[in-house]
Amino acid sequence: MTASGDVIDHIQPFQIERPGLRGRLVRLGPAIDRILSGHDYPAPVAIALAEASAMGVVLASGLKYDGIFTLQLQGDGPVGLMVVDVTSDGDLRGYARIDTDRLSQTVDSSKDIVPRLFGAGLMSFTVDQGPDTDRYQGITPLEGATLAECCHTYFRQSEQLQTAICLCASDMTAPASGGRRAAALMLQRLPPSGPVTPERSEREEDDWRRSVVLMSSVTDAELLAPQLSSADILYRLFHEDGVRVYTQRPVRHRCRCSQSKVEHTLRAFPLAELRELLEEGVLRVSCEFCGAQYVFNEEALRELTAS
Ligand SMILES: [Zn+2]
Repeated sequence: MTASGDVIDHIQPFQIERPGLRGRLVRLGPAIDRILSGHDYPAPVAIALAEASAMGVVLASGLKYDGIFTLQLQGDGPVGLMVVDVTSDGDLRGYARIDTDRLSQTVDSSKDIVPRLFGAGLMSFTVDQGPDTDRYQGITPLEGATLAECCHTYFRQSEQLQTAICLCASDMTAPASGGRRAAALMLQRLPPSGPVTPERSEREEDDWRRSVVLMSSVTDAELLAPQLSSADILYRLFHEDGVRVYTQRPVRHRCRCSQSKVEHTLRAFPLAELRELLEEGVLRVSCEFCGAQYVFNEEALRELTAS
């Protein structure tokens, strides 16, 4: 818990009464620290991964699903791949695959983070609800200077609810002090119920624009401040239009890798191929998400492939 009374990593659902909008505020602290720890990402990559984590959680929190939501950013730039996934139980993890040499050649600034880090590429969302179920997938070109702009492009191009999003992350150039945070604030316009007259349509459009302007007035410092509760932030922004906050849902960093999953993967290969991968007598498999290492000697590999 923080001084504000919030669980630090959480999703705060809310509704704005008069214009009939729903939204979610996601604020992450320890989960971001855990995702970034042990990876030594350069600051711009750490910022992008922190923002992508908050974005993954906020997008997933609006979907009804039972399984895994995956956000993937892929491009021809120095960051070839960034993956964030979040389960319906609130387990979050993420990683970035980077070409350090190419990255060090790019100018270190927070402007145009998407073209600079990812180059040209794609952003995709997948919901996996287990075998024998349909996978939901959305895909869009990485168009925009920031991840929030890429999200707006996606929502404009797909026939989704009208959506506005803002994302931020703390300054990652400071040494890991346990204070790394990220936040996402998202507003969605609900589909109209009842007949829509031109007057109503115009009024609702005005309400929407007004709410987006109010939303944009929030500062990164406010969204990232642990001493401000999410309810306080939302009340400050939207109190004139009647904001109602619902029960918070916790989020936590948790990786799903395990010894048995790695063994399952290795069983798909012939022993001769696995033997070629041995270094100093052992095969090390490390999890790209959490960095956990699984080590197998030749004897263990023989037993695995024989079973
Ligand atoms: Zn792992």
